[in-house]
Amino acid sequence: ILNVNNLEKSYSSGSKQLKVLQDISFNVEERETFAIVGPSGSGKTTLLGLCAGLDRPDSGEISLCGTNINLLNEDQRAVLRNKKVGFVFQDFQLLQTLTALENVSVPLELQGEKHASVTARDLLEKVGLGDRLHHYPSQLSGGEQQRVAVARAFSNRPDILFADEPTGNLDAITGEKVEQLLFDLNKELGTTLVIVTHDIELAQKTRKILRLKGGKIVSKDISAS
Ligand code: ATP
Repeated sequence: ILNVNNLEKSYSSGSKQLKVLQDISFNVEERETFAIVGPSGSGKTTLLGLCAGLDRPDSGEISLCGTNINLLNEDQRAVLRNKKVGFVFQDFQLLQTLTALENVSVPLELQGEKHASVTARDLLEKVGLGDRLHHYPSQLSGGEQQRVAVARAFSNRPDILFADEPTGNLDAITGEKVEQLLFDLNKELGTTLVIVTHDIELAQKTRKILRLKGGKIVSKDISAS
């Protein structure tokens, strides 16, 4: 479902070019759970953004859901993302002026879904927030906001979900709940999961682990679990 070939990415800072990713190639199969781990600054978030089509590489190819995304313009990428891709950001990125329910339903309405509110309510119930539908993000705990972000990411029934440190800002117990939720949705809906994490225990629960260091792959392991 995701094929990455010889990816390279640099950022320019002042007059210097900073190589952030070099010679990155890997595959993620449909329905698989896949973790990207590595020290801070190793390029994990950059790689996730490239794979999800949020940014463009300097060179290399990315095929996502059967489409070579290098060949798509921004509008075509947005269409692909709306139809097939979910993304959970490290800092949630909820809209502060919308309630939990609206944070999930409004993007669906914008995509033309007729029963957006019902779908959003069902998903929020699934993530255990049935009694927080009309709370604003500022009235929710970090774990609750993260669960709204997960509900929103799953709302378009994506084929693949990219999650950047989905448990990074949460305490251990809440983190485990969010983690369980992701794996449950993977099993129930067959959604492929690609998770960036510092948490080795979380990574070991996925099927494959890609380790990055200094922008290069140091290992690709099939997990024992
Ligand atoms: P962390 O675990 O701390 O989130 P990471 O492995 O996700 O780190 P990235 O966020 O991908 O790492 O960043 C990789 C490198 O690229 C870092 O050195 C960072 O400073 C640099 N970088 C990231 N985004 C930009 C940008 N927009 N412009 C310039 N440099 C950037």
